[in-house]
Amino acid sequence: MKLKSLEINGFKSFADKTVIDFMPGMTGIVGPNGSGKSNIIEAIRWVMGEQSAKGLRGNTMADVIFGGSKKRPALGRASVSMTIDNSDHYLHSAFDEVQISRRLYRNGDAEYLINGVKSRLKDITDLFVDTGLGRESFSIINQGKVEAIFNAKAEDRRAIIEDVAGVFKYKQNKNKSQNQ
Ligand code: ATP
Ligand code: MG
Repeated sequence: MKLKSLEINGFKSFADKTVIDFMPGMTGIVGPNGSGKSNIIEAIRWVMGEQSAKGLRGNTMADVIFGGSKKRPALGRASVSMTIDNSDHYLHSAFDEVQISRRLYRNGDAEYLINGVKSRLKDITDLFVDTGLGRESFSIINQGKVEAIFNAKAEDRRAIIEDVAGVFKYKQNKNKSQNQ
């Protein structure tokens, strides 16, 4: 499973259609403060189904739509598509290549697509179940989160590490069987 490309169009600071192709190996995105690096990560979380506007540094979900600048007017639609190489079938899909897309219009209309077919949010989240990916996983560490982990109380830090390691669900099962 590998991230192949990301197309961002009208999302946050990306007023024009922008395509990022991820080459084999590690990718670093660099740029001055405010140039849109975090917006790229948020585009990834958004297309994977992020439902919290605050989690995307906005007040309402419409805040992800390009809101205009001195030179150009606001847009009416945000759209993000992410293409994943799934030739190892790591994601829950029979397709070797999976493209997920999300669109949001200013009037509130929204849609999700999987390989061009209209889908539900649940279909998108189901793709990532138990893969360690997905909108609420620890595979994306937000700006400031590293310090938060360092500064956490020992038991909170342990909970985070157990969550990442997937220990939590086994603990839950253990508790269940002990209570029976
Ligand atoms: P830093 O290095 O400080 O972390 P960054 O490269 O991560 O910066 P971002 O936080 O991704 O930068 O981008 C912030 C910019 O995106 C700001 O200039 C902000 O005005 C712009 N922005 C955010 N939402 C929108 C929107 N809806 N429409 C237009 N511009 C937006
Ligand atoms: Mg940033």
